[in-house]
Amino acid sequence: MTQVFTKVTAVRGMNDALPDSGARWEQLEELVRRWLSDYGYRNMRTPILEHTRLFTRGIGEVTDIVEKEMYSFTDSLNGESLTMRPEFTAGMVRAAIEHNLLYERPQRVYAMGPVFRHERPQRGRYRQFHQIDVEALGLAGPDIDAELIVMVTRLWKVLGIKDVQLELNSLGQGEERAAHRAALIAHLEAHKDVLDEEGLRRMYTNPLRVLDTKNPAMQAMADAAPKLFDFLGEGSRAHFAGVCDRLDDAGVSYRLNPRMVRGLDYYNLTVFEFVTDKLGAQATVCGGGRYDGLIELLGGKPAPAVGFAIGMERLMDLWGQYQPQNLRPECSVYLIHQGDAAQRQAALLAERLRDAGISTIVHAGSGSFKSQFKRADGSGAQIAVILGGDELASGAASVKMLRLEGQSDALAQQLVPLENLVAFLKDKVN
Ligand code: ATP
Ligand code: MG
Repeated sequence: MTQVFTKVTAVRGMNDALPDSGARWEQLEELVRRWLSDYGYRNMRTPILEHTRLFTRGIGEVTDIVEKEMYSFTDSLNGESLTMRPEFTAGMVRAAIEHNLLYERPQRVYAMGPVFRHERPQRGRYRQFHQIDVEALGLAGPDIDAELIVMVTRLWKVLGIKDVQLELNSLGQGEERAAHRAALIAHLEAHKDVLDEEGLRRMYTNPLRVLDTKNPAMQAMADAAPKLFDFLGEGSRAHFAGVCDRLDDAGVSYRLNPRMVRGLDYYNLTVFEFVTDKLGAQATVCGGGRYDGLIELLGGKPAPAVGFAIGMERLMDLWGQYQPQNLRPECSVYLIHQGDAAQRQAALLAERLRDAGISTIVHAGSGSFKSQFKRADGSGAQIAVILGGDELASGAASVKMLRLEGQSDALAQQLVPLENLVAFLKDKVN
């Protein structure tokens, strides 16, 4: 009996980046790393798997992420509950505490990589997606909140992205939120009749999130709810004004959004989001804020912190709308050969070119000149180098410029002695 194999496909909501888009991702990552290092941010890499309790404690029990989006499982070997990171901050803070990173000085750090959330897949919303996560650990002032926000606006400039708006709010401090929360719960109790199921369930556990509803029937109630901003004390107001002043200094415009609470529990003072109407329903490209209580909550010596995360799939989508993809060539030089001896020579020659920093593909196997030239052209290479029987006999190679528009063939192809070839090509390759 013959066995029938069924095709194995990718897990729903998890994407493959094929070579063309892979090149584009690399390009983005290079620009991002450069942008971050211009501000003195340094790379960290933390594990994808963490103890589940890191996130339940660090993100908060009554959040979308912890309630319904985490990929958690029991390690069958030792019974531990583990979770694939749904965001970076908790893990970054855990690592900073575990390795005493803040012992000597504050740290500006970043991480980039995949995170996992069990959501309904759609444009801009996946189950595995990527984040650029940036954290300033151990720094308390509004100067640093503003630095981070200005920094994000520079990324839009670097990538040529327009039409992104900054929304800003302050969540104040614990006591201020507690006073507001009491007033808010009273308001929700008085309007119980308009609350939906989720609203009723969360009104005592996370009343702020009840206001973040998209349910049209609850909008009027949400609009009339007591505003957290009115409960802020002098310190919180001064911090917020400090951020706004610095944004004004830098010419960064913003919209105050008193309803913005962010999805995670741990924020205080400044919270912000960058939103756009270019991404359909998934409008937020970047979200962040201050989380001065988190380090202590996770067992560290109390220290302030502020950070943000950018969703890279949404960023790629947006970037593509302003800077259409410019396909990168696979190599600079494509080596064509004819015959066994020439093929072996070509392999050695290619190593010499790579020594000189010239990226090179050697045609694999054999084939007619015509078919090899077709491959050379398809690779996007700038130059084809041909090693045929005639060339080998005369100790030379033919060099053909593949991308010279409107030049005569005589100019486009010439014979170059092998001993001069590397220098000759180095001069031609840009
Ligand atoms: P949303 O309201 O869109 O669910 P969020 O508040 O859950 O966003 P954060 O936890 O702040 O998002 O994550 C930071 C960024 O990561 C978001 O601004 C967004 O760009 C991106 N992001 C969040 N969830 C997803 C997802 N499922 N797929 C792709 N990108 C995402
Ligand atoms: Mg979400």
